[in-house]
Amino acid sequence: MNKKFYQLYCEICNWKLITDGIDVDKLHEIKTAPIPQGAPKIDPIEKKVVVSKPIKQKRKFRCPSCGRVVTPKPIKNPQETIDRFHEQLESEQRKKEWEKLDAEAKDKYEQVKEEYEREQKQKDQID
Ligand SMILES: [Zn+2]
Repeated sequence: MNKKFYQLYCEICNWKLITDGIDVDKLHEIKTAPIPQGAPKIDPIEKKVVVSKPIKQKRKFRCPSCGRVVTPKPIKNPQETIDRFHEQLESEQRKKEWEKLDAEAKDKYEQVKEEYEREQKQKDQID
């Protein structure tokens, strides 16, 4: 259970992905070349040429929603973060549903009100 999780977060458009690295294949990865660490040196004791290892660059991805570069950041408490992420998604979903219900209720109210007013007018005309 020592899986590493990463968060990809786009500060430009708020796109977010939490991944264990399996599903990054479907993202557009930006190719990065390792950075060489200076010129090769000679080891004074062993009299050998030492080539310092190039620093591997962090992987970079293109945000699927706006195209900006996003760098994955390791998550310290994956489960906690994932739970919170899902909670957030759920509450946003619920909010949207409520807003929809709210809008439907308002529509219904307007309809009923209109019908009532029309009936009142008709009554007035009859009287
Ligand atoms: Zn973006």
